[in-house]
Amino acid sequence: MADQYVLGSVLASVLALVVLYNLIVKRNARGESTADVAKAATTAVNGECRSKNGGRDDVDVIIVGAGVAGAALAHTLGKDGRRVHVIERDLTEPDRIVGELLQPGGYLKLIELGLEDCVENIDAQRVFGYALFKDGRNTRLSYPLEKFHSDVSGRSFHNGRFIQRMREKAATLPNVRLEQGTVTTLLEENGTIKGVQYKIKTGEELTAYAPLTIVCDGCFSNLRRSLCKPKVDVPSCFVGLVLENCELPYANHGHVILADPSPILFYKISSTEIRCLVDVPGQKVPSISSGEMANYLKTMVASQIPPQLQDAFIAAIEKGNIRTMPNRSMPADPQPTPGALLMGDAFNMRHPLTGGGMTVALSDIVVLRNLLRPLPDLNDAPTLCRYLESFYTLRKVDVPSCFVGLVLENCELPYANHGHVILADPSPILFYKISSTEIRCLVDVPGQKVPSISSGEMANYLKTMVASQIPPQLQDAFIAAIEKGNIRTMPNRSMPADPQPTPGALLMGDAFNMRHPLTGGGMTVALSDIVVLRNLLRPLPDLNDAPTLCRYLESFYTLRKPVASTINTLAGALYQVFCASPDQALKEMRQACFDYLSLGGVCSTGPVSLLSGLNPRPLTLVLHFFAVAIYGVGRLLLPFPSPKRMWIGARLISGASGIILPIIKAEGVRQMFFPATVPAYYRAPPASKNQTHSNRGKHVKQQLALFEATAFPLSPN
Ligand SMILES: Cc1cc2nc3c(=O)[nH]c(=O)nc-3n(C[C@H](O)[C@H](O)[C@H](O)COP(=O)(O)OP(=O)(O)OC[C@H]3O[C@@H](n4cnc5c(N)ncnc54)[C@H](O)[C@@H]3O)c2cc1C
Repeated sequence: MADQYVLGSVLASVLALVVLYNLIVKRNARGESTADVAKAATTAVNGECRSKNGGRDDVDVIIVGAGVAGAALAHTLGKDGRRVHVIERDLTEPDRIVGELLQPGGYLKLIELGLEDCVENIDAQRVFGYALFKDGRNTRLSYPLEKFHSDVSGRSFHNGRFIQRMREKAATLPNVRLEQGTVTTLLEENGTIKGVQYKIKTGEELTAYAPLTIVCDGCFSNLRRSLCKPKVDVPSCFVGLVLENCELPYANHGHVILADPSPILFYKISSTEIRCLVDVPGQKVPSISSGEMANYLKTMVASQIPPQLQDAFIAAIEKGNIRTMPNRSMPADPQPTPGALLMGDAFNMRHPLTGGGMTVALSDIVVLRNLLRPLPDLNDAPTLCRYLESFYTLRKVDVPSCFVGLVLENCELPYANHGHVILADPSPILFYKISSTEIRCLVDVPGQKVPSISSGEMANYLKTMVASQIPPQLQDAFIAAIEKGNIRTMPNRSMPADPQPTPGALLMGDAFNMRHPLTGGGMTVALSDIVVLRNLLRPLPDLNDAPTLCRYLESFYTLRKPVASTINTLAGALYQVFCASPDQALKEMRQACFDYLSLGGVCSTGPVSLLSGLNPRPLTLVLHFFAVAIYGVGRLLLPFPSPKRMWIGARLISGASGIILPIIKAEGVRQMFFPATVPAYYRAPPASKNQTHSNRGKHVKQQLALFEATAFPLSPN
């Protein structure tokens, strides 16, 4: 019996040893194979994950530009253990009139990124809200900050000091390298961006390589257009006829018939001829020679045009001079080539329904002329070609106005710690403190041309047209600032985000997306984008698989939308509402906006929480915008609606729609209001593909909750 026990114990021990041995060997083998795979892509340095970049530079991310976005991003990615190489054109402290008021929503982003100390020790001023002025009346709009730590508020400062603090902070990280140099080209291999070429002060051209290049070269970005793909679309053809011996229903007006299946145009091309263009969807039109086309026009089209044109229409068909033309549409896709430049339709086409082609071509010529003017010699083709890359950027960007900047001293604002907006004529004026002794004044001048500073025209304009519209207690300091002569100007650019996912590269900051600076939202959007990107990149130890990473990062374009679209739309819409207009309906809208905001309660906290980035919900924005319009109409109709007032009310609603709907369209309706329906709303990171289905689902839910929580700090949840 004892023998049996001994034998049993020996067998059990042997069995246990075999199992244990197997377990250890298998685990080691698995460990080795995982390590091998990882080793192929990464090397461990101080326990951190490192991308190995095909024997090239040991860098994970190249950042082009160390402005607000680039400097904050460098610190953020550096803190996450990435090796970051920042290439900035000028590392000395910038001196600019942009990016001087950070909204509370932007300050929350700074906290999230661990950068809030960058607004310390730069004499930054706290901002608790706005004061709005119109026709001698004013109203105070406070940020809804009650739910936040007492430290949370807006901050206004010298932009250069803020940037320099962020650059210094990024440079303290051992894995972040800041280098002064101007990036001239993105290096591409088989459609993937592999790095950049840049020029340093000595004139030497260098190259740098990394799996991911993030372009943050600001509003004048030369590099953004390298990140586009060509695409020619032919949605329809126009069939052209000339009508004679008839008159259009409205003299001197183009006529658009919203026919079935698509529009028909009529406009005069001479005193006796009317051009008719019938849109035929698709690329194939009925044959002219076989008579199919004449038949189609007579049976399908004729009955849809105004009766007084029908005889002439049929006569034109009978005459047989029918022509067709494909309606091409092609977004500009610059491929800069030394010694050559594409212009006009060769370069960029759109559907001719709105007759915009010549306008675009002429506008392009103006841009090009202005670029070429300072160049006496066009011989250095490569340099010229690089310089002319600005052309591709400048032509797409909208510049509705310029800001003229002054610094006021020895005065106090009517409301301490508040930004001040004067609803002046022709457009708004801003004031906010940028240090304990200085007040920034930004005077909006509509259009792209401002009075000349050197000839004294600007000083004259400010004294005669602007000074009388600002609060009396600021007038002396305003005049003194003009006399001092330190007047600066800056174009107010606006450009909707137009993502063209490119393996190996990503655009950020103003290089990617701009809005009118009236609401001071640019830095908030840039910082919020950095938070989204950081959260997306965090689960990825290695950034080398460029195509997979590019696909995964498509989520970025949707996840950033609630914050970015709300701030962009508000900035564009508010600017248009706040500008003076001779149109009575728009005048009413402007007044209604001022009065609505003055009502207090939700009528002021709602819009202000949108503006401050504390509650960036697009639907809330649309509701408040139309509430203002309806409020305006209500005031027109009460107590007694006259036909004239009803007409103005109708135009007010149509004007309001005309302001906000194009902006929303440019932002993308689906991404803005239904982001969760976009396929790339949130893609699980490629590294987590081996997870079980339920683990993966849990991860996705956690990540989305994180994005939701950081995007909506004022959320009722
Ligand atoms: C008049 C005006 C007022 C504004 N006021 C506000 C405001 O009050 N609040 C607010 O939040 N936003 C404001 N904005 C918007 C805000 O300034 C921008 O959104 C913000 O600066 C964008 O940051 P960025 O990093 O993309 O660009 P920038 O801060 O402009 O940084 C770009 C950097 O890239 C560098 N660079 C450029 N080209 C190259 C190259 N080829 N190689 C290397 N480096 C390069 C530049 O030197 C620069 O340092 C304002 C804008 C304007 C026009």
